[in-house]
Amino acid sequence: MNRLREMQAAKPARPAQPVSLVRDLVSAIQIAPASKSRGKSPKKGKPPRRASSEFPGGASLFQRVFTRLGCEGRPPRFRAEFYPYASLVLTIRRREDAVYVRFSDLLQRAPRAVLEGAAALLLSRVYRRKAPRSLVAPYLNYARSNRTRGRISRMRRGRVRLVPTGPRGRHFDLEKMFEQLNEKYFSGNLQRPHIGWSTKSWRRQFGCYDPGPNQILLNRRMDHAAVPAVAVEYVLYHEMLHLKHPTRRSGCSLVSHSPEFRAEEKLFSDFVRARGILDHLAR
Ligand SMILES: [Zn+2]
Repeated sequence: MNRLREMQAAKPARPAQPVSLVRDLVSAIQIAPASKSRGKSPKKGKPPRRASSEFPGGASLFQRVFTRLGCEGRPPRFRAEFYPYASLVLTIRRREDAVYVRFSDLLQRAPRAVLEGAAALLLSRVYRRKAPRSLVAPYLNYARSNRTRGRISRMRRGRVRLVPTGPRGRHFDLEKMFEQLNEKYFSGNLQRPHIGWSTKSWRRQFGCYDPGPNQILLNRRMDHAAVPAVAVEYVLYHEMLHLKHPTRRSGCSLVSHSPEFRAEEKLFSDFVRARGILDHLAR
């Protein structure tokens, strides 16, 4: 997912946010806050929406990595499983003397070194140890590979639901706006994705494009008489550029805003003014 981050820059990160590892929404590490998980068994009461699957040898793999990282004391009881997350996610939660770990089921057939790397990343966060690069590199390379990115996209199409919302706001019609921008800047060549206003106001972003359900969402906060149309157009244009420039691999980091993307973004006729309005809105 690609997000406009201007609002984010203005606000401090919330502590409950998942710790993002690969700086991309589809590859995140989440550490459940201790206060929420303590004393509660996961999924008690309601039946789970999705079924997890076994992680054969998971507990001993975590014990091994625990020792390799030089964590002190007796290793906890590890409970590891694969879980059908909608993205490449690793989660860990500590409860009393047990540690519950879930790996995205995308990793189910991953080589052992990849699984060990993922375990090392999680444990190094929770136990505040520095994981040796050689240990985590196989996981990072795996997570960033084009092959894995492709599998994530295909999987997301099946697992990520479209946000049920429409393009027509109170003040702005995004579908109409899309067609105009498409004509003006893309010679009408972009295929129209699902477009809509977010169902809730977002605090930290103006828009996003999720290639999973192929949907552009704009922050409903902008569907307001006080917001100049040019600012909404600019955000939509930015998300349309994500359609045109899919996230690709570059060196060892994921680049959603490539130099070509940034250059093309400046072709927006009221670029400076629109950015100024957004800066103002983000305050
Ligand atoms: Zn973007």
